[in-house]
Amino acid sequence: IKKQSVIPVAMYGGRNAVTMLPGGGIGPELMEYVREVFKYAGAPVDFEVINIDPHSEESNEFDYAITSIRRNGVAIKGNIETKSESAGVLSRNVALRNELDLYVNVLHCKSFPGIPARQKDIDIIVIRQNTEGEYAMLEHESVHGVVESMKVVTESNSDRVARYAFEFAKKNGRKKVTTIHKANIMKLSDGLFLETSRKIAKEYPEIEHNDMIIDNCCMQLVSKPHQFDVMIMTNLYGSIVSNVLCGLIGGAGILSGRNYGDHYAIFEPGTRNTGTAIAGKNVANPLAMLHASVDMLDHLGHKPHANLILDAIHKTIAEDHLLTPDLGGSAKSSDTMNHLSYTQGLI
Ligand code: ADP
Ligand code: MG
Repeated sequence: IKKQSVIPVAMYGGRNAVTMLPGGGIGPELMEYVREVFKYAGAPVDFEVINIDPHSEESNEFDYAITSIRRNGVAIKGNIETKSESAGVLSRNVALRNELDLYVNVLHCKSFPGIPARQKDIDIIVIRQNTEGEYAMLEHESVHGVVESMKVVTESNSDRVARYAFEFAKKNGRKKVTTIHKANIMKLSDGLFLETSRKIAKEYPEIEHNDMIIDNCCMQLVSKPHQFDVMIMTNLYGSIVSNVLCGLIGGAGILSGRNYGDHYAIFEPGTRNTGTAIAGKNVANPLAMLHASVDMLDHLGHKPHANLILDAIHKTIAEDHLLTPDLGGSAKSSDTMNHLSYTQGLI
């Protein structure tokens, strides 16, 4: 078996260099919070900040971002907007993941103490194919009024995402992997994804494997989510299922998502929202991006700093209940941040 994710990371004088892509909407303010806690926690990380122009198709910054991530190995990002209405302008978020071959997205949906939610004690890992499927970005109008959109499923990508899921399950003491699909309708594409996961499952007899059709999966997630442990699926189903799960445990402002390939890693909020409507209002929940920054510290091997920040979050949310409006509270983003820094005695 090929060794997973051996990622070289840049380190200068004992400090890591990390690419920071703030993106649009609430991205820049959330990044400020990350820099604030990193300063107080003494995290040995220097950021290389790159702002990508959402209006221009010809973006030097985009190429610079790719070069920077290739050099540093690691990035933290907000959602990059595509402002042009033209169909020819592709999403930079998708292009970035494809260019760097970040073939797997991992979302750990775990209930948080102190956060009001529709379901309790959720602990589900969503592993999503991150570079093809319905996000192949191959659409065209073949004749006027007829649009075709290609969903691309390859055996090699289905193989490595399934392998990633079973290895993850094995390393983390997980018991079951469920493949989510629509192979009854998309017999060839989802059929290949499902068959490949069944083939890989045979190499892991100690881990239970089953599968479920995406529509039933959505119903089960809302009514009986505790039956799920590790889930794998193609790109678009992954986006939808991730959003359902975030909704179950308290919304878009909490969870982080991780994008991995064999060489690079990008950390970001789990639902990848821009949050344009709430930008600059001091109401955005800082937790999703803070959790992304904690994932990043973990990845870089700075466990003590990661734990320091996690403890501060726990005290602020679970013990002192400084909740932002998306969680039903009345705290401003800055109230949560100030409390978080003081509570931990970081200042
Ligand atoms: P999209 O990027 O898909 O257009 P939005 O940016 O509109 O999504 O975000 C979806 C919803 O989630 C919005 O209601 C937005 O306010 C909310 N949201 C996203 N991130 C946060 C956050 N960090 N704090 C609070 N609400 C958030
Ligand atoms: Mg939006």
